[in-house]
Amino acid sequence: MNKALFLDRDGTLIEHEPYLHKPEAVVLLPGTTEALSQAMSAGYLLFLFTNQSGVGRGYFKLEDVQRVNARLIEMLGLGPDVFTETCVAPEPPGAPSLYRKPSPRFIQEMITKYDLLPAHSWMVGDSPSDWAAGAGAGIRVAAVQSYPPEKAPPHGQATPPDPLFPSLLDFVRSKLPCGSSAP
Ligand SMILES: [Mg+2]
Repeated sequence: MNKALFLDRDGTLIEHEPYLHKPEAVVLLPGTTEALSQAMSAGYLLFLFTNQSGVGRGYFKLEDVQRVNARLIEMLGLGPDVFTETCVAPEPPGAPSLYRKPSPRFIQEMITKYDLLPAHSWMVGDSPSDWAAGAGAGIRVAAVQSYPPEKAPPHGQATPPDPLFPSLLDFVRSKLPCGSSAP
């Protein structure tokens, strides 16, 4: 069986910019490349899982999201196939939703398709919808919050998983077997 990281994009891999749709505006968060590199070395498949309601709201097109994702992949420098699969959920909140987090559907489909072991797979993100999607699919959940609390998305009724990692790299070093560069 395989193990995987499901990764939120905005606020987890790159700086959160509301309705980001310009490739030149992509800014990697510190340590993202190292974190993903270590996770790959530790044998994790990586999946990108991002809600992009700006598509459903008509603010920009799916092609814009794909250009932003391509820029992210280019900036990572870990090869064109760094993500095994990518799910862009374009639905606006409140619309009938197939894949929009907190729906666990994408994760569930990937568990079946890639024979993933839920107990060794993680959803990592900065929002309650990320944590709920992971929990709904029965995988492990981690919260990263790379920005000051006052800039955090509202948690609403959700309690962030404990601990709240200051970066993806802190999560990888702390939680992934062989994911640490320490001897
Ligand atoms: Mg996010």
